Amino acid sequence: MRVRVAELPGGSSVGSVLLFGELQADPLVRMHSRCLYGDALRSEDCDCGPELDLSLDRIQAEGGGVLIYLEQEGRGAGLLTKAKGLRLSQTRGWDTYKAYRSLGFPADLRSYEPAAFFLRFELGLGRIRLLTNSPNKVAALRCAGIEVTPVTVHTEPQTERARKYLSDKQILQNHDLPPLLRTLPSATTAQHEPVMSISPVGVVSRTVVQTATRIIKRLRALVDGYNS
Ligand SMILES: [Zn+2]
Repeated sequence: MRVRVAELPGGSSVGSVLLFGELQADPLVRMHSRCLYGDALRSEDCDCGPELDLSLDRIQAEGGGVLIYLEQEGRGAGLLTKAKGLRLSQTRGWDTYKAYRSLGFPADLRSYEPAAFFLRFELGLGRIRLLTNSPNKVAALRCAGIEVTPVTVHTEPQTERARKYLSDKQILQNHDLPPLLRTLPSATTAQHEPVMSISPVGVVSRTVVQTATRIIKRLRALVDGYNS
């Protein structure tokens, strides 16, 4: 599959765009905000890594689509704030939205305007299918005049903390997730190990192997794309 790369208005510090294959009139689009823990280190505390994987799988299966990778770590508040917020949510049992507010930050600082501008005016897209569970993302793109059909991205939480995180998103942010999550018992987060020391060696090894396998699979697909 052919892959083209672009930068969002404002440059690479705002975000990057990967265009896979040939775009349909209403292509699959994933707007993904950077999550170093989930995307790169494969933390099982959130659904960012699996959501990105599933989105790319769907784009690849369809033969085309758009990934907009936004440099909005920690819901736009940065990695340090995110780490502090996670620490607070673990030690006090708060959801991460409350933890952010206690640190003096809004629960969510992310902006989708550069992505909307790029989709609408650089790519000329008036209609897309957005790979997301988030009504905020759908609303932001609709505000920019894009006709959006949401396509949910449901992944299986691997840990109790990930289930709690998903449950918080569902209850506090109205994310479109399976009803099962609403009935999950609340996580005993304060009793869990701190973030980034989450995994005993065996788990790390398994995760690393899975990640390496995924990366190799994707690289092969990209190389095939460049060679064809
Ligand atoms: Zn994450």
